[in-house]
Amino acid sequence: MTENKGWNFDNSYTRLPDSFYKKTTPTPVSSPKLVVLNESLAKSLGLNPQRLNSEEGTEIFGGNKLPEGSEPIAQAYAGHQFGHFTMLGDGRAVLLGEHLTPEGNRFDIQLKGAGRTHYSRGGDGRAALGPMLREYIISEAMDALGIPTTRSLAVVTTGESIIRETDLTGAILTRVAASHLRVGTFQYAAALQNIEELQTLAEYAIVRHYPEIENDEMRYGNFLYEVVNRQADLITKWMLVGFIHGVMNTDNMTISGETIDYGPCAFMDTYDTKTVFSSIDTHGRYAYENQPRIGMWNLARFAESLLPLINQDEEKAVEIAQNILEEFPKRYEANWLAGMRAKLGLFNEEDEDRELINNLLDLLYQHKADYTNTFRSLTMNRLENGGLFETKPFQEWNKKWQARLDRQEQSREESLELMKISNPAVIPRNHRVEEALTAAKNGDLTVMHSLLNALADPYDYDSIQEEYCSLPEPSNIPYRTFCGT
Ligand code: AMP
Ligand code: MG
Repeated sequence: MTENKGWNFDNSYTRLPDSFYKKTTPTPVSSPKLVVLNESLAKSLGLNPQRLNSEEGTEIFGGNKLPEGSEPIAQAYAGHQFGHFTMLGDGRAVLLGEHLTPEGNRFDIQLKGAGRTHYSRGGDGRAALGPMLREYIISEAMDALGIPTTRSLAVVTTGESIIRETDLTGAILTRVAASHLRVGTFQYAAALQNIEELQTLAEYAIVRHYPEIENDEMRYGNFLYEVVNRQADLITKWMLVGFIHGVMNTDNMTISGETIDYGPCAFMDTYDTKTVFSSIDTHGRYAYENQPRIGMWNLARFAESLLPLINQDEEKAVEIAQNILEEFPKRYEANWLAGMRAKLGLFNEEDEDRELINNLLDLLYQHKADYTNTFRSLTMNRLENGGLFETKPFQEWNKKWQARLDRQEQSREESLELMKISNPAVIPRNHRVEEALTAAKNGDLTVMHSLLNALADPYDYDSIQEEYCSLPEPSNIPYRTFCGT
């Protein structure tokens, strides 16, 4: 018992029908080394960080030793990748099991990059240090921004190289998630054409994520409705901070409403709704402005998988599902408007607010202004530093905004307080993330830790955050991200 690090596994997924997973142990690695451990996350899971920061902890994060109670599996799923349906599954991830916290909350503990599985196809099942640290940094930044996300508990290097275009340092990320149930998990179940198993999966997801509807007579329709709402809320949050997921395939959309799979994602600097960073997204399918529409498209695929459960009469089922899906754009629009109002310090609603907001965004676009820093400057009431703020159209817009602020009963101080909690002072800017990753790959972790420290309090307007406001040097080469496989 002295070896127990507080792991408390209960592996409900292994009690699902066999078709949903394959028992899989992580493939041992030659010499795992801990690169980063998320101490505060460990504590919130009821784990002891000192005990994880040990040889044994590192052996666990490297997949060489199983924590007590783990029953490792690789999960089956399918997905529409750039619009094309494929059977997939965890090709390089192994789920160690579900850890129950002392408060009774259930979290998946998954090793990403843990070796080949039944679903690896031609892949090696491994991951490189850069992309795993990138996921660590950005997922933790998202969490601090208040955006639902999977979390990152640790990254280890494996002591082995992985072969891509060049040899890269192999690494494993320990990912923590409310679950790894995806829209693609339901597509997989639907493709099996076994209604009983589909129903078992739906019941499982409802109990795990939406227990409040467990006993509803219309629970499968309600399940769809709840997922639609969570995804609408999630995607609004992405849009309000300028986050571009980059690979919104249906296998990368969770049932829990958490952001998952930080492959080619990145935050937008200059405001341009057409921004795409992913090197493989040549047609801009997953561009910033397309995210709400793609979210809706993915949810339509989710609805299709649930049709046989929603109603035995297919026509009726389609009608019910369509009505529910229509909630998505409504909820998204309402959320977005509310979020934008808050970003401008507006408490009440006026019909012309949408126009006021869109006029500002148009100005940002025309003057190639930085999205985050513009709202940051408005929040700090620092409109002197040139660029957009010195232009006549902005000054005219500002007069309208000031008049609008005058028409609400709250004071300017109250407005600025609202703006402060609605506009991050810092985001993980691409050039700063790259700088941290380059240093880490060369063995210097201090750059990453300073960045993580600033990102941990994104709504603080202190000097720590200020340091990360600087924009990248102008470049003719657009920033590109890669899937990290
Ligand atoms: P992603 O683009 O990360 O969402 O991954 C899409 C699919 O490819 C998933 O089924 C992954 O498990 C699989 N995959 C990605 N990288 C690898 C790899 N190196 N080896 C095996 N499978 C992989
Ligand atoms: Mg994925």
